[in-house]
Amino acid sequence: EPSSTGSVLDGLDPEQRAAAGILDAPLLIVAGPGTGKTRTVTHRIAHLVTECGVPPGDCLAVTFTRRAATEMTQRLLGLAPRHTGEVTVDTFHSLGARILREQHARVGLGARFGIADHATQLAVATEVGGDDRRGRDLLKQLSRTRRAGGDPQRPLPDGAQRYRAKLRERDLVDFDELIELPVTLLESDQQLARLYRDRYRWISVDEYQDVDGQQYRLLWQLAAEPSGEPAGNLTAIGDPDQSIYRFRGADVGFFLRFQRDFPGARTVHLTRNYRSSTAILDGAQQVIAPDSLVPDRALRAAHSRDDARIGLHQAADPADEAAFVAGGIERLLGGTSFHSRDSGHVADEGDQALGLSDFAVLYRTDRQAAAIAEALTRAGLPFQKRSHDRLADRPGVAELLAELRYVPACGDPRDGGSGLADRLRRAARAAVDRLPGADQATTAELHTAVDLLLPLADRCDGDPEQLFTELSLGVEVDTWDPRADRISLLTLHAAKGLEFPAVFVVGCADGLLPLRWPGDGDDEESRREERRLLFVGMTRAQRHLYLSHAAGNGERSPFLAGLDANTSERIGDPVPRRKRRETQLRLL
Ligand code: ATP
Ligand code: MG
Repeated sequence: EPSSTGSVLDGLDPEQRAAAGILDAPLLIVAGPGTGKTRTVTHRIAHLVTECGVPPGDCLAVTFTRRAATEMTQRLLGLAPRHTGEVTVDTFHSLGARILREQHARVGLGARFGIADHATQLAVATEVGGDDRRGRDLLKQLSRTRRAGGDPQRPLPDGAQRYRAKLRERDLVDFDELIELPVTLLESDQQLARLYRDRYRWISVDEYQDVDGQQYRLLWQLAAEPSGEPAGNLTAIGDPDQSIYRFRGADVGFFLRFQRDFPGARTVHLTRNYRSSTAILDGAQQVIAPDSLVPDRALRAAHSRDDARIGLHQAADPADEAAFVAGGIERLLGGTSFHSRDSGHVADEGDQALGLSDFAVLYRTDRQAAAIAEALTRAGLPFQKRSHDRLADRPGVAELLAELRYVPACGDPRDGGSGLADRLRRAARAAVDRLPGADQATTAELHTAVDLLLPLADRCDGDPEQLFTELSLGVEVDTWDPRADRISLLTLHAAKGLEFPAVFVVGCADGLLPLRWPGDGDDEESRREERRLLFVGMTRAQRHLYLSHAAGNGERSPFLAGLDANTSERIGDPVPRRKRRETQLRLL
């Protein structure tokens, strides 16, 4: 805790301190990556409870992921260990669940209601629809309505009503209802809403640019009087240029209209970036510039180090590209940066040496990870891959499994595992064909699902029934540990909010980034979101950034067109491992 003379705000720069100190109005902190948004909001809460006499129980911080919530709790513990125990740090879903636990009887739930996983959802929907296919259609229809921010009070299609009733019979809610039910409840009972407004006088929401319609309504109930007057103090933090969840219903419009929603609100900009070198920061801004949602964003690097420029590399094919990544990591671990090897430049002079956990390899789709994993394995470099939730709950998995039942086993029954692998692939193709308007997200999900299920299919020795049993037991796929001594393999989405000294973004090819599937129309907004994804990826890097693509995957991404010679340079291959060994041997 701060000493008697110092303030908890001493850990902030003047801009950040001014933002954290605004206590008399709703507050919007708009700032680019690495400017200390998360740090500022955490210090602000610590300031409130240790220095402003705000009871910790009045404070609510909302994040999007469990990991972000844990991270914030830990930072708070470090800043104000004696006061933070009672601060509520929730994800949107845990906040919804908290309200439902307290108000369960009001919505016809028992005190110990459960949360349906995807397999259960599908089973219930199938019961309602009569068969598997109609069940899936029903779920799809529901999620489409939800993504479109459907009014929870609007009468639902008959099937949806019965689906919900059946969930209720089993004392279950599904994941989306964790937010929808509290919204309906609070919107229809203002006395109850007032109770929660009184409880949480100080609300902070990090990554506000990714709020969706339902989450917005929930926040509105907690933060505003029916008249629209702010009830407590809502602080929203975010960066419109990092909004990357439109496909899940997020709408950056909520961020952009904050000032209209809360007319007395103050808006603050943070301009100093504490994360990245000048070349990386300027390069990222060159990439986002054509579609930036923040006019006149002028981000400056707080530490202007003489770091390497962004390395651009073209490989022949994905395996070659993966070898480039593995070779590059080896060199950086050894203390040299390969793009300036002609001049004999040694990277990180005076800087801390890099360890395995300092590296991240980022990609657009999960399936790109296989080639990287193989190259790292071959090079003997330990890595960990991040995925989020239970395998059975991953998007696309349920659809794929349902489809699998219709795909007959053919070919040689003796080839067990590979026979099942083949069936999975055919099931994915069949599912894509069957969904008339299969959007790129759905198609990508199905392909990802195949990749996820293949290792499991292998383990089950090709028995499908065994596969279903395994899945219903809830195979976990989230094993990522930020502190492990391993290289991180992450999708661009999963890298949100994180930072690493050295980052490789692979697959910077037209068609992968922006991601496009055959038959896709040209959707300008999706394309802009793809650009923002690359911006998010690039801005994870502190000192070293490499952007690569494989010629076999298509032309270089058009998003790289804005990079100039001040921020980037083309680089060739690192010295291949084998050649280096030979050289060493000769030297011996
Ligand atoms: P993103 O948009 O990626 O979520 P952010 O704006 O939330 O980024 P933070 O993660 O809070 O940024 O901060 C980025 C890095 O800069 C962190 O390592 C943080 O500790 C550091 N940092 C931020 N502000 C300061 C400061 N005033 N002094 C020193 N370090 C700082
Ligand atoms: Mg952040």
